[in-house]
Amino acid sequence: MVIDLAARDETPVDRRSRPCAYCGETVHPRKPTGRPPRYCWTDGKDCQARAKADRSAARAAGVTGGLAAVREAAAHLGEQLDDVWEPLQDLVDTVGESRAQLAALREQLIARAEEAEAAAETAVRDRQQALEAAEQAERARDEALRQAGEARTERTAALRARDEAEAAGRRAGPGPHAGGT
Ligand SMILES: [Zn+2]
Repeated sequence: MVIDLAARDETPVDRRSRPCAYCGETVHPRKPTGRPPRYCWTDGKDCQARAKADRSAARAAGVTGGLAAVREAAAHLGEQLDDVWEPLQDLVDTVGESRAQLAALREQLIARAEEAEAAAETAVRDRQQALEAAEQAERARDEALRQAGEARTERTAALRARDEAEAAGRRAGPGPHAGGT
């Protein structure tokens, strides 16, 4: 038994071989590219038939009770497994592939969501900059208007000062053309 276990441990466990569902010996696929079957098939062994016979015997015993119910259930399950073994393996493969595809899709969706988020942030930043530029332009316009107003006031004051100076000049002494009044 110890030797048996050691020998089994040395057997490489991969998809190309598996233990027989009945006797536990390593089963290899019939074709190099195929799956290993559920039971032994070499050396005239027929573990599938033996498993079936065991199940029939267990049923024939007809014992009721907890353990018998468990055996019956196990036998039933074993038969169902025999039937679906190949499709089940295909399904396992398909599920594995689908899971990989889902993971890839998830990565894509996350990347796209991150892109959209970055684009939204850029749009918010651009809008903020546009608002600031508009405010700055408004302030510049107000300043220009204020300066124009000041210039107008200065010009008016200068004109008034000139007029006053001229009037004062006329009052101070008759100029060459001021004597006629
Ligand atoms: Zn076997």
